[in-house]
Parts: sequence; C-alpha cells; structure tokens
Amino acid sequence: MIIFLMILSNVMSIVGKNMMWNDSLLNLNISGNKLRRDTRAIDRASRDYGKIANIRPDAVLYPTSVNDIVNLVKLSYNSKRPFGVAARGRGHSVRGQAMVKKGVVVEMTSLNTVTRGSRIRIVNDPRLGLYTDVGGEQMWIDVLYATLQRGLSPVVWTDYLYLTVGGTLSNAGLGGQAFRHGPQISNVFELDVITGKGRLVTCSNTYRSELFYAVLGGLGQFGIITRARIRLVKAPTKVKWVKLMYSDFSAYIRDQENLITSNDDGLNYVEGSVIMDYSHPISWETSFSPIEVSRIKTLLTQHKILYCIEAIKYYGYAPTYSNISETEVDNLFQGLSYVPGFIFKKDASYFDFLNRVHVKEIALQPLGLWNIPHPWLNMFIPKSSIMNFNQRVLVDFIHKQNKSTGPIHAYATRRNKWDDRMSAVTPDGEIFYFVGLLHAVVDGDWKSRDILNKEVLGLCKKLGIEVKEYLWNQKTKDEWIRHFGPKWRIFAQRKALFDPKKILSPGQNIFN
Ligand SMILES: Cc1cc2nc3c(=O)[nH]c(=O)nc-3n(C[C@H](O)[C@H](O)[C@H](O)COP(=O)(O)OP(=O)(O)OC[C@H]3O[C@@H](n4cnc5c(N)ncnc54)[C@H](O)[C@@H]3O)c2cc1C
Repeated sequence: MIIFLMILSNVMSIVGKNMMWNDSLLNLNISGNKLRRDTRAIDRASRDYGKIANIRPDAVLYPTSVNDIVNLVKLSYNSKRPFGVAARGRGHSVRGQAMVKKGVVVEMTSLNTVTRGSRIRIVNDPRLGLYTDVGGEQMWIDVLYATLQRGLSPVVWTDYLYLTVGGTLSNAGLGGQAFRHGPQISNVFELDVITGKGRLVTCSNTYRSELFYAVLGGLGQFGIITRARIRLVKAPTKVKWVKLMYSDFSAYIRDQENLITSNDDGLNYVEGSVIMDYSHPISWETSFSPIEVSRIKTLLTQHKILYCIEAIKYYGYAPTYSNISETEVDNLFQGLSYVPGFIFKKDASYFDFLNRVHVKEIALQPLGLWNIPHPWLNMFIPKSSIMNFNQRVLVDFIHKQNKSTGPIHAYATRRNKWDDRMSAVTPDGEIFYFVGLLHAVVDGDWKSRDILNKEVLGLCKKLGIEVKEYLWNQKTKDEWIRHFGPKWRIFAQRKALFDPKKILSPGQNIFN
C-alpha cells in the first residue's frame, strides 16, 4: 500500500508539472499546430552540429510570424515561473548553445516556410546606400543568391553559408574579409529584436543603441533578431584564389600581417591553416589538386608541420567584367617568403569560392563524415603571443598528441573595424589571430579531443597567453566574468535591462 501511494504521488507530481507547462503554454495566442511536443520536433531541437550536447526542451515553436515569437516570450515573461526560450537558427553550434532544458526552442527557419524568399529585400537608400533587410532566420546562402541576382553582395562572409543571419550575428561572424571590413556585426545598420520582455523593438547605432550594441555579438542573451539591415556593395563575379605554403612560422605570420595591413587595393580575403604530417586527409586534401597534394605531402615528410596562407583577389566587376592580369596577381605576392615554388593559383566564380565548404559537405555527407561529433575549440590569440602559441601549443603539445583530426585554422585579423560598444570580445592589440581546432571525430572518441581542448586552454593560462574563446560555452560564471573582462559589468547590466528574467538562450550557460 505504501509503495502504491509513493508511485501515485510520483505520477501525480509528474502530471502536475506537465499540466503546469501545458496550462501556461495553452494560453499562447497562436493558431494552428505551431507548438509541437512530438518526439521528432523535440529530438531535432535537442541536437546540434557538435553532436555532443543533448538537452531536451518541453516544446518547440514553429512560428509563421514574428508575432508568434513575441507572444511566446511575453507568455514566459508574464508567467509566475518563466521558462527558457532559445532561438534556433540552423543549430550549427557545437555545444548546445541553441538548446534549452524544460523550455521552448523556437525553430527560426520556420518563419521562412510561409513567406519563402520574401524576407530578403534589397534597397538603395539615398542616406545609407545599398543594403538588404533580411529576416534573422534567413541563411546566408539565400542572402547570397538574392543579392547576387542584383549584382550585389554583403562584404563579410563566414566560411560556411548554411548558417542563419541571427545565429552568426549573435557571435560575430568572422571570415577572411574581416581584416578589411570587420566581422559581420560591424556591417549591420539596424535590427528588429524581440527582447526578453516580449517587446519587438527596432534599434540602430543612433536609435535605442544600447539594445543594438548589446545584441550584436550578444550570444542571444538580449533579444531574438527578427530582421537585420546589412550593408551591400557591388559584387565581383570572379576571384583569383591563391595558396602559399610555409614551413617557417615566423615567415608565415610576417607575410600574413603584411598582407592584411597593406594598401586598400590589396587582397580581399586572407585566411590561413595548419597542416600536420598526420592530419586526416579530409581536413586538407580536398582543398588542393592531386598534383598539389602529392607535392605538399613530400614537403610534409620533411617538415612535419606546414602553414598555408589562402588569399583571394576579387575581379570581373560589371559592367566591363575585366580580367586580372598575371602581373597584377604576382605583384600582390612579391617579396613573400613562402617555400619557393609552393604558390598555387586558380580562378573561380565568386559564388563557388564563397560556397566552398558546402561543396565539401556534399562530398562528406555520403561518406558519413559530416554528421560526426565536432568538439571544436575556437580562440582569439593576441599577436604578441602567437609565436609562443605556435611553439608551445601547436608544435610541442598538439603535434605530439597525434589526436587532431580536423582542420586547424590560424589567421591574422585586425581589430580596427570591430566596435567595442558591441558585446563581442577580442584580445588587446590591433592585430590578433583566430585559431580554430576544428576537430572532426571520425572514431567517435570526442571526449579525448575535449580533454585536449581543456589542456590547450590550461597550457595557455600557464604560459600567460590571454586567450579569448569564440563560440565556446564551457565556462563557469567566474570564467565568463574573466572572458568579458571590463565589459562584464555592462553585459550584466544589459541583461538586467533587456532580459531581466533570464529567459533567452540559456544554452550559452552565462546566466543560467
Ligand atoms: C561548418 C561551419 C563553419 C563555420 N564557420 C564559421 C566562420 O567562418 N566564422 C564564424 O564566425 N563562425 C563560423 N561558424 C560558427 C557559426 O557562426 C555559429 O555556430 C552560428 O551560431 C551558427 O549559426 P546557426 O544559425 O546555426 O545558430 P544556432 O546554432 O542555431 O544558434 C547559435 C546561438 O545564437 C542564438 N540565436 C540563433 N538565432 C538567433 C536569432 N535570430 N536571434 C538571436 N539569437 C539567435 C541561439 O539561441 C544560440 O545561442 C561555423 C559553423 C559551422 C558548423
């Protein structure tokens, strides 16, 4: 009898909890079957590109209008027990940043299903110039398609375009064009944002600027972006795509820094990567022709670690679509100290260059090498520490571990186009390096890479290298405070102002 009563009381408490959630969500003023609790919807919302985190929400909202999201957030804000709300773009985070335990995930891309394409509008404004107004749920690839049709383009791109505008603007949106234009967040004129109080607010750097600066790079903590006004310029049609191989790290960084600080007619994009003798073929070989691969392999047996600058010059602009001469290209790379003869050049369309990672995705999908765990560690390293980082972390530690299976990015970028009033955090100094250990775990053992990541961070701390992690939510409250440094006070004040009940994006693990 006692056992029966205990079971009954457990059942009642579970039913009670569910009833409470149901009751409050039933008050939601939205029509149709937009709020789903079926296994398919919940499963999808509790997975991401990282394939590590698995956090289950109570329900998933498939909005068909911005108002649906406003009503959801308002409901949470006004209820006695507010529930977490996480906007999910494409869920291409790697550690559950777009997940929420016992709350509601908003599948942002659902906004696009009803009004397909119509949430990307291109405008030529006498005051602002050319811009596009895009829904926060739109993928950058669709922004590219729409703007190219008019011969236009945004100025900064992430390496992969099947990410949403709201998702990348919540981080920074870094790419090889950022040394020239800043990250994507530096190229936004205006936003529509649903705050944690359920208010839909338009903001810009002159109007409600506190919210504007908070949201850009704000890790989803202050509002859900439903529209972004993004700067456009005339698009090239072609690119000259050049790769330069280095065995000497000091020459590699000297040349990169020269390239990103040279005059305005120089390169349009500069990134760089590290190739180790045991690197998995999928992490680098597909970026080169078979002849180039065999030459690089020979060089690798000699040097064990190589560094590759990837540089792009745009050309073929309307209306003349003129070519770029070999002499013009050679001039761009004159005086650089790459391994003699190890310069590889090719031409590509602007679209194919920007869409390059998706081409790899299509090749890797059928081999089962895309949907695998990705315990990534992305970091910003100050220029003053990059030599030490290379020797002590990349050469003496990571290379000896023989564990790194994905691409390793390492490229210089400039800080002068970042706006310090925004939430995104960078290291001190005008030039800093983006280093990404993009582990792609083919053997399933993501935990050992996770340990490696933590050891890397521990080593940097011991060596006094001031790392700022990017896209990384594995932090305690104290570590977040240290991460934001002098910006923490304003970050916390803005949270109290725009999301006082700590409803939004709890998966970032900052306030929850
Ligand atoms: C293959 C690949 C390549 C990448 N390359 C780059 C790169 O070159 N440069 C770079 O900077 N990043 C890069 N990233 C990282 C990427 O920018 C982030 O993971 C980004 O968050 C992914 O966008 P998403 O739409 O999938 O966002 P999600 O993972 O769905 O969400 C990310 C965070 O933003 C919040 N969020 C989502 N939508 C909104 C919104 N509309 N308003 C407010 N908050 C929102 C979520 O709640 C969550 O906290 C890459 C990722 C992958 C998988």
